[in-house]
Amino acid sequence: MSTATHILVFPHPAQGHMLPLLDLTNQLAIRGLRITILVTPKNLPILTPILTAHPSIQTLVLSLPPHPKLPVGAENIRDIGNRGNFPLVSALSKLAGPISDWFNSHPSPPHAIISDFFLGWTHSLATQLGIPRIAFFSSGAFLCSIFSILFSDIARFKALHSVEFTDLPNSPAFKEEHLPSVFRFYNESDPDSRSFKEGLLANMSSWGCVFNSFRALEGQYLDHFRKLTVHRRVHGVGPLSLFRINSDQESSCEPVLTWLDDCPDGSVLYVSFGSQKWLSEPQLQALGLALEKSQTRFIWVVRGEPELDGLEERVAGRGLVVREWAPQVEILGHRAVGGFLSHCGWNSALESVVAGVMIVAWPMEADQYVNARILVEELGVGVHACEGPQTVPDPDELGRVIKDAMGLNAAQKLRAKELKEKAFEAVRDGGSSVTELDEFVNELVRVCPK
Ligand code: UDP
Repeated sequence: MSTATHILVFPHPAQGHMLPLLDLTNQLAIRGLRITILVTPKNLPILTPILTAHPSIQTLVLSLPPHPKLPVGAENIRDIGNRGNFPLVSALSKLAGPISDWFNSHPSPPHAIISDFFLGWTHSLATQLGIPRIAFFSSGAFLCSIFSILFSDIARFKALHSVEFTDLPNSPAFKEEHLPSVFRFYNESDPDSRSFKEGLLANMSSWGCVFNSFRALEGQYLDHFRKLTVHRRVHGVGPLSLFRINSDQESSCEPVLTWLDDCPDGSVLYVSFGSQKWLSEPQLQALGLALEKSQTRFIWVVRGEPELDGLEERVAGRGLVVREWAPQVEILGHRAVGGFLSHCGWNSALESVVAGVMIVAWPMEADQYVNARILVEELGVGVHACEGPQTVPDPDELGRVIKDAMGLNAAQKLRAKELKEKAFEAVRDGGSSVTELDEFVNELVRVCPK
């Protein structure tokens, strides 16, 4: 029987949560930890790259318990949208019994649980099992500090039209409609909301916290978050995508990348709003016109098959519309890309940082306003372009913002390049993220009984 420390990894089934936790898991396996990953059946294919890279990793596949608010067969946020988080987390919490049974019948059960920060209920499960639980935060420490403040006094903050976070570095303030969606959707009379809140607060008492973030990006917020926790073990180990197992060797042949090969350095704006957002017809028309008026080269990823009124013909050679899905990381990493018109999802934000590409921000919901603030106001690696999920931008104005931002010497472009250097430094030997990851693993191995 192996004497290596055995960890149960439990991701939240949403793309933006799962991929970074699997990147972390890859690093734990490389450092010799024994791993079991818990998923529901339909999420098993997402594990293929890591299981191929590390055949020793085991899986624990448990069926998702039914929930009246979840469509039958839906097991991933992709299937239900982000309002599905509360019922999905509630349904997953009913796995506490089956997980305990599995532990009790296992010949060498895990010594610790690492689970997503949305699965804070696993803290009490781990306590019952007598093992440490580590909260993995697929988002930044700024957002999670805001969560812990908002959820510690919901009634007070729900009554405000805008909230100033005076305890946080730089005292950021947000209008009510810009606060994170899980807080805005919170409903005290809904049991799923209440258990989600308890889970978020339980993260603070867990044995440790690991963030997909890094010191040069969020040092002051990682330090602040540490003060909010009981245990004071807070580690910034990102950007985790820099540790990703490359599963798609073919992607360099993608036509979109060949198209970029013919464009000058830094000349192309990449436009994409993540994996969940579908723009309305008027938004599509206005954005198309703005891109046309900006006279900038662009790649625009659109969901579905919308009619774009001849835009593609009018901008032929200068603009490319990609339907449904594009290899975002490869596009951002191409030397021809100089800007990213983005909704500022945390993964998109980190991917643009890693690529050294300036953000042109259009935050809409979820954590996007919070992320946009860090990128634009605090780090100066982006500009504001638009905001709101339903907003139809003025094409002239948005076209001008894009044109100005893509101007050759935009200061934001230079700062984005500097931040990229810092991101790569963080994951080099001796860099802050590698050092914090090693400290985390060493301490975990030390405290886990064999
Ligand atoms: N993504 C992609 N191609 C697309 C759209 C999105 O590869 O056409 C990836 C993107 O690289 C990122 C993720 O999907 O890793 C989106 O995550 P993010 O946190 O930015 O936004 P969300 O989808 O959660 O709103």
